[in-house]
Amino acid sequence: MKLYVVGTPIGNLSDMSPRAIETLRTVDFIAAEDTRVTVKLLNHFDIKKPMISYYEHNLRERGEIIINRILAGESCAVVTDAGMPCISDPGEDLVRLCAENGIEVAVVPGPSAAISALAVSGLVTSRFSFEGFLSTSRKARFEHLEEVKTNPRTLIFYEAPHKLQATLADMLNTFGNRKITLARELTKVYEEVRRTTLSEAIAFYEQNPPRGEFVLIIEGAPKQALTQETTLEEAAEIAKRLME
Ligand code: SAM
Repeated sequence: MKLYVVGTPIGNLSDMSPRAIETLRTVDFIAAEDTRVTVKLLNHFDIKKPMISYYEHNLRERGEIIINRILAGESCAVVTDAGMPCISDPGEDLVRLCAENGIEVAVVPGPSAAISALAVSGLVTSRFSFEGFLSTSRKARFEHLEEVKTNPRTLIFYEAPHKLQATLADMLNTFGNRKITLARELTKVYEEVRRTTLSEAIAFYEQNPPRGEFVLIIEGAPKQALTQETTLEEAAEIAKRLME
């Protein structure tokens, strides 16, 4: 029948949309990232519905089961612990499988931490690049940061509190001292939006150990000019950007 990609709150249950509630009530079953988390949401809205767990480590096996059930006539809603499925969360593979199997996919939009943080960042919002989480491998982190270093668009990263300090230090080393907005615990009681620079943020969190969930919004690369010090590679990069 149909797959519904349903956004759920990122902290404040009042952000659950009436359409999301209605959809979860009417589908045949729910594919949830963590059924223990989703059952709390369902209980809050008095929804009783069979669930199947669908997360990073069972995507392949469960994806097939879910698709077969939909092809057999059932409707399914995919949800994650918080925010929009498919955005640094499970869902992407399921949507692709639906497309490959001619199954209709509908979206029931809800909040996403990335867009919510960007909106209150005070930085350029017209063009941006969502970068998700940096890898835990040093090499992959460094390559990722190097890759986006010359991107003129506002950069959006997700980060866990215990890795924040190391990430800010790596960013300062790679990007230089750019503006950054740290959006913490959005829509929750201790929501905080700190508009600062990378070096000031490092100094601040040395004194105030980070807690809660963070989105990092970083200003894009400054416009470059050709100088006598510009290397051939940099000139080629500038030329490429101008062409774009
Ligand atoms: N799919 C989700 C979305 O659409 O926002 C993101 C899921 S990702 C696994 C979780 C990360 O999102 C957290 O580590 C944090 O970086 C960010 N995040 C989620 N909720 C947040 C909130 N209330 N405030 C700030 N950041 C949040």
